[in-house]
Amino acid sequence: MDVPTLKGAAMRVLQILTNKGSEIFAITPEASVAELVRTLADRKVGALLVRTPKGQIAGIVSERDIVRALGSRETILHDPVSSIMTTDVVTVSHDADVSDLMRLMTDQRVRHVPVVDEGNELVGVVSIGDVVKNRMDELEAERSALMDYITQGG
Ligand code: AMP
Repeated sequence: MDVPTLKGAAMRVLQILTNKGSEIFAITPEASVAELVRTLADRKVGALLVRTPKGQIAGIVSERDIVRALGSRETILHDPVSSIMTTDVVTVSHDADVSDLMRLMTDQRVRHVPVVDEGNELVGVVSIGDVVKNRMDELEAERSALMDYITQGG
């Protein structure tokens, strides 16, 4: 009787994108914080990539930046996104292991990471929620395989 394989090849970041889709929600640096808030709410996401009208990455901006800015001045709604965004964007390769992405998110304290391909082209964005969902699905598949093994002998 074969013992079930509980852990196959390490899961890659690309697999998460394949499951969730590669749509990228973005805003321009010149847009107002009010527009940013509206877009975050409409899209039901916690962060947006900041891209120039030509498509270049100018930064990333999350709910946390809004909260932090509000803490120092209450009238930020008319300010530009560029005044609160993070310009030093941490990215991950689509080829990286999901475990490396989890470590990156923990070490850098970021919950959103743009994904790039081998040509450094942007191919999507993964959030910590996507990573957790992916891990839950993996655990469920492992549990199912174990149950089959126990109840049906593999
Ligand atoms: P988050 O945990 O993603 O809501 O973001 C926390 C802080 O990190 C905010 O200041 C974001 O602008 C910043 N941030 C989020 N994602 C990234 C990223 N991939 N690279 C650099 N900074 C980021």
